[in-house]
Formats: sequence, structure tokens, C-alpha cells
Amino acid sequence: MDTRIETKCLSEGWKPSQGEPRQLPVYQSTTFKYDTSDAMGKLFDLEADGYFYTRLQNPTNDAVAAKICALEGGEAAMLTSSGQAANFYAVFNICEAGDHFIASSSIYGGTFNLFGVTMKKMGIECTFVDQNLPEEELDKYFKPNTKAVFGESITNPTVSILDFEKFARIAHKHGVPFIVDNTFATPINCRPIEWGADIVTHSTTKYMDGHGVTVGGCIVDSGNFDWMKYADKFPGLTTPDESYHGVTYATKFGKKAYITKATSQLMRDFGSIQSPQNAFYLNVGLESLHLRVERHCSNALAVAKFLKSQDKVAWVHYADLEDDEYHALQQKYMPKGTCGVLSFGIKGGRQASIDFMDKLKVCSIATHVADAKTCILHPASHTHRQMTDEQLREAGVAPDLIRLSVGIENIDDIIEDIKQALA
Ligand SMILES: *Cc1c(COP(=O)(O)O)cnc(C)c1O
Repeated sequence: MDTRIETKCLSEGWKPSQGEPRQLPVYQSTTFKYDTSDAMGKLFDLEADGYFYTRLQNPTNDAVAAKICALEGGEAAMLTSSGQAANFYAVFNICEAGDHFIASSSIYGGTFNLFGVTMKKMGIECTFVDQNLPEEELDKYFKPNTKAVFGESITNPTVSILDFEKFARIAHKHGVPFIVDNTFATPINCRPIEWGADIVTHSTTKYMDGHGVTVGGCIVDSGNFDWMKYADKFPGLTTPDESYHGVTYATKFGKKAYITKATSQLMRDFGSIQSPQNAFYLNVGLESLHLRVERHCSNALAVAKFLKSQDKVAWVHYADLEDDEYHALQQKYMPKGTCGVLSFGIKGGRQASIDFMDKLKVCSIATHVADAKTCILHPASHTHRQMTDEQLREAGVAPDLIRLSVGIENIDDIIEDIKQALA
């Protein structure tokens, strides 16, 4: 039976048969047993499905990946050890030395470094673009060696909304996949594949885990991108892989080619796998994702409206507010709400913002965002402190910007705390 997304949070992934554990078992095992040498050999030839070593794949992880895949409406998925690993794999699975890709300049600081500094050392060049530019302007950044376009559905920390249809159109016009990091919106509020994204990534560390207990990531492939149509651009998928006995992923695995390649090549060689125990915790988080996201959004909207009414607050940015510059995009792509994260500035600039934060009691100062407890961060002095002023401005991060991640506590307690700190 095709169920609604709230039910999928509970029923997808692990599907026990009669007499099996109701809750997902933790397969805490590095290795898996086979009766004959030939049975095991077939796995190494990618001729049979199965597990042999947890550095590549583990049944607990795969059950959780299958759940996230169902929530996103994808074709295949894999878990990774972190959101960073997910975004690295997502791009590195199709880009190699000498290639180029395009990313929004407003993305998470960690991803910005990964793409702009570390991947550059691997010979892969990333051009960062203002995601609000019109299509004709974005067009100019494409080169013959451009292999992908990357954006975040809701940017961290500036909470701007990506115009998915514009990005999908321009990526597909140039014959490259559109990759979306959907961490903040979660599939509860937005499913990028429905708007043309080919590949979706997550830092499951945030709302999916939801309780601040495990670092993790996920990659979901829609199976929609036709690699063979652009065979020259993506030789890693469309020509034989000598390290796997000459298998050609796109022809042998069809819609599962991208995830199969990422598992059998990148996981094999880099091993950034999530531990089965962490996948188990993630699954527990996913079971209440729909409830929590709803409460995060209603609490955040109430806080945003309160902040707006305060004289000491210079500005508030939350797309769910009717007069926000991203409200139209929010209404189109995530009408149920964006997420629990909003940004604002205190009159008096940088120092006033820091003073305000030090007075909070319910809201805690933490680098974390998007979990059950309300937390607050000043990007210019925390997550983004490695950026120059110019890079900060390019990323749309004002020096007084405070990122508030509204939790699921009682809304009156959150507002009273902010009120006393402002006072
Ligand atoms: C946190 C975050 C990441 C990185 O994820 P980790 O799990 O911390 O490695 C990537 N993208 C976004 C949007 C994030 O918020």
C-alpha cells in the first residue's frame, strides 16, 4: 500500500517478516559468512547482491537508507559517516581531476571549504555563484568541463530558499545533474526530486537524527539522470571500471548506477561508512521526524513574529513570514513551512548580538543546529570565522547575523527567554 509520508517515517526501511524483531536490528558485525568460495566471489564481481564487509555496506545502514530513499521519492540511497562525506561523495562520484562544477555561494561553510579548498587540491574546480541570479547570468558560468550544479534547499545559515526549477532547468540544459542538499527542509517539508533535482544529500546529523546524538549523512539518487545520453561527460559511469573487472555501471545497473558506483568504489576506497549503531539511532529519530518538523516550524514562526515586534531587533529573516523576500519561493516549494532555523540581527551590531546571546538561559550557545533543543550561534565568530569579510558578504552573512535554531520546547518558555535577554 502506498502510504503518506508520516506513515513512511515509521514503516519504510526495515520490514520484518513473521517472528522477526519489530525494531530494526543492529548488525554489529564487520564481516558476513558464506558457504562457498564461489558465492562470495560473485559479490566481488558485482554479480550478486549481498554483504561481505561493513566498510562498504551493512544491512542496518541499508534499511535506514531505504527509509530515507522512500521519504525523498528516490530510486537508491546510501548512508555516509557525515554530511560532509555525503556531499564529497555526491560530487566526487561524477567529477574527477580536470572537471568543474557550479555551487551556490550561500551553502554551509563546511561544504564551501570542501568544494573551494580541499577539492581544488584534487584538481576539481568549483565556481560559486549567487543563487538569485537570473538564468541568463547563471548560464555564463558553465564550461565544457562542467559536470554538476549544487545548491541547498534552505541555505545554512542565511535560510534563503533555492529556486529548484530554475537550477534544474539550467543544469539539464547543459546536460549535467542537479544536486541538492536537503538537510534543513527535510523530505517532510520539501522533496527536491519532485522539482527536478537528480541527487539529494543530507546531513542526517540535523533534523533526521534530531536529538544531537549522531553525526551522519545520506545520498539519495532519483535514478532520473540519463548518464548514457551524456556518456562523454561521465566516463566513470559509462566506461568499464577496471577496478571492478570491467563493469560499466550505467549499463549494468541502470537507475541504480550512481549509488552502486559510490558504494563499490568510493566506500571501498575511502570507507566513510556510518556505524550500524549510529544508523540505529538515526532510525529512531526518523520515526518522529514528521512530528518534530511540524513543531519546529510552528515554534520558529511564533519566535520570528515576536522578534519582528521588538524595537531592539534590527531585522528578521524567516521565509515563512509573509513579508520575507523568500516568501513566494517558500509558498511554492515548501508550503507546510521551511524549518526551525531563522536569522536576525540586534541593533548595535556585532557586540550587541554577542551580549544578547550571553544572557540566554533556555537557548544554548552551540555550533549545532536543527535538533530538539533551541540553540543559537553567531556565524561570524563561530562557524564562518575562517572566511574573509568579502567571502562572508558573498555568502550573505552579515557581521551581526545571529542564527537561531528553534527547538521543540514550550513556545512560551522560548519567547520569555528571548524577552529577558533583550531586556
Ligand atoms: C551540517 C551540515 C552539513 C555537514 O554535515 P555534517 O553531518 O556536520 O558533516 C552539510 N550541509 C548542511 C546544510 C549542513 O547543515
